Amino acid sequence: MVRRLIINTQKPLIKDMLTDLKNADIKELSEVYDSENRDSFISLYLNRESRDNKFVGRRKNTCKSVLKEDKELSDNFEKTMQMIEEYLNKRDREKGQKGLVMFASNIHNFFRVYKLGMPVENLLIVDTSPYIRPLARLVDEYEAFGLVLLDSQRAKIYVVSSGKVGYKKKKAKDIINKHKKGGMSQARFQRLRKGAINHFLKDVSEDVEKLFSKDDVVKIIIAGSGNAKIMFKNILPPHIKSKIVDIIDMDFDEAEDRLVSKAEEIVLEDEKETSEKNVSRLRDEILRNGLAVYGLKETGEAVINGQIELLLVSKGYKIRGWICEKCQTVDSGVKDKCPYCGSRTSGVDVIEEIIEFAERTDTKIEFVGNNHILDELGGVGGLLRF
Ligand SMILES: [Zn+2]
Repeated sequence: MVRRLIINTQKPLIKDMLTDLKNADIKELSEVYDSENRDSFISLYLNRESRDNKFVGRRKNTCKSVLKEDKELSDNFEKTMQMIEEYLNKRDREKGQKGLVMFASNIHNFFRVYKLGMPVENLLIVDTSPYIRPLARLVDEYEAFGLVLLDSQRAKIYVVSSGKVGYKKKKAKDIINKHKKGGMSQARFQRLRKGAINHFLKDVSEDVEKLFSKDDVVKIIIAGSGNAKIMFKNILPPHIKSKIVDIIDMDFDEAEDRLVSKAEEIVLEDEKETSEKNVSRLRDEILRNGLAVYGLKETGEAVINGQIELLLVSKGYKIRGWICEKCQTVDSGVKDKCPYCGSRTSGVDVIEEIIEFAERTDTKIEFVGNNHILDELGGVGGLLRF
């Protein structure tokens, strides 16, 4: 397995809006590393909602004192922190921003910033490569979803991706007033009204089909008050209907951020259920001696060979180990020198390294929270393609 070192000689990549985090971003990061095993990359995750302003300073001082012995590394650290702090001092947060993630290395002229609509935990890590695990986890948890809020004459359609509302469409039809006048009977009025509502919902359904057919909208939530949402569901074509995860009661005039965060909760809950189902699949395959691997060694090898269809990782699980960036060897335990090429190694969390390998080989990763089956199996496992 060969990793490419991407050196960014151009302007730093900073997007001034909230980032729509994609697997491709993480894949790019997973290919970056220091080929001489130097701890030259700083990864910073900041929760923009927490009030811990001293976090960066505190971690900076700790890491500085640890790196003091090594002139080259402490110089690099100092300069890299300068780049980071300059950025932090200059910019305010975007509307709806919950997290900020930065990867930087002065000697590699590398600088990446992601402003996220999703919350992250504060973290400052110095390592031989960008620390991508929390980002990979966000991509798994915050899948893009479609949201439709409607009643019998008004509709709002949203596509929410990476915690931000990326697309909005409003529709309204004055259905009641249209048929109010004249001397028609109550029954006829009701019939016409029903027809008009149906027509309106059909119209919304066509928009929804266009917008939500794209691959990245994997889940749909329908919200609204009264009967319209059920009528609407029944109109939808099967391939759209099958993406619905929930239909909820919600006032049409509910504030947008409350609506979106409610929908987000539902999507996260649904994702949790999917995780558990996948662990059951892993368990069943293992019991039948089928297409599955588990534990560090087997799983790590299968990931590197590109055999894994779905990698399952226990959320908080870490395994102490070492990496030789020169020959790309990773193993658990402690080793100062690489047994294969004699280079100085670097201490790592082996799970993070497996995640990096998985990203590089386009393997889908499922992060699983508090599952004793997966923990018993060593915190990692995989469903095999073949
Ligand atoms: Zn080596």
